[in-house]
Amino acid sequence: MMDEIIISGLKIFAWHGVYEEERDKGQNFIVNATLLLDTSKAGDSDSLDDSVDYGKVCLYINDFMRVSRFQTLEALANNLARKIMVKFPLTQSIKLEIQKPEAPIPLPFDTVSVKIERSWHKAYIATGSNMGESEELIKNALENLDADENCRVLRSSKMYRSRAYGGVEQEDFFNSVFCMETLYSPIELLTRLQTEEREAGRERLVKWGPRTLDLDILYYDDIILERDHLRIPHLDMSNRDFVLLPLSEIAPYKRHPILGLTTLEMLARVKETYVLTLKEEE
Ligand code: ADP
Ligand code: MG
Repeated sequence: MMDEIIISGLKIFAWHGVYEEERDKGQNFIVNATLLLDTSKAGDSDSLDDSVDYGKVCLYINDFMRVSRFQTLEALANNLARKIMVKFPLTQSIKLEIQKPEAPIPLPFDTVSVKIERSWHKAYIATGSNMGESEELIKNALENLDADENCRVLRSSKMYRSRAYGGVEQEDFFNSVFCMETLYSPIELLTRLQTEEREAGRERLVKWGPRTLDLDILYYDDIILERDHLRIPHLDMSNRDFVLLPLSEIAPYKRHPILGLTTLEMLARVKETYVLTLKEEE
């Protein structure tokens, strides 16, 4: 159970709306925000540095809402919620409601509002490269992602070497796995990783052929997602020693949400059943 810091009834005059008049004249908005975080450290130390300063959060919400212009409460809430989590990094999740009591509706009503919930999510990513300056390309991708305010890279495994897999004759691979927190949804994260692959000069020529950079989502929290272009957990991860060994370094006991096996259990199984690709350390 997470602790909560609750802000309610914060009144802000701003200029969001679909109608020109709303963006011209402005109107009152009421904000309710619940920040979820662990307050036990501040509970012990009695120091504000160990928690989130709700006064600063209120001022930030006010600045953000008065400077920006959105047509919909949905977009305003989505952007504001993420920004609060970036600016106040101890916040693990936020529930944010924005009310518009003077909305242009030609009927009597109390208020209308949009309420959303946003969180930092934990994702595990596998990297692979066997073209160009592989180690450099992987390192750059991690740096770029960490520089993105919607991502925080937490831990990375060391680099492993493996023989190519899938029957195409090609150079050996460099592989690693890293863990990060992200505000992106799974689909947004896939798009963000594909941008990074393109930056590294990746072209999709041959299926399972050589690549400058491959970034695959292994896990996203414990979700199970089955879409044509995105499967989480990654479909082949449980058969790949070059994924499981680096993963076992940073998450040995994490359980696969479908198979119910830990990384170490999957690794032991792969060693018995599959062709191993990892090379002994040189
Ligand atoms: P591979 O990673 O299998 O060697 P690609 O990187 O070319 O090959 O990926 C092919 C497609 O796999 C991508 O276009 C992407 O839509 C899809 N895909 C499905 N699940 C995932 C996942 N968990 N992570 C990354 N890509 C995925
Ligand atoms: Mg891929």
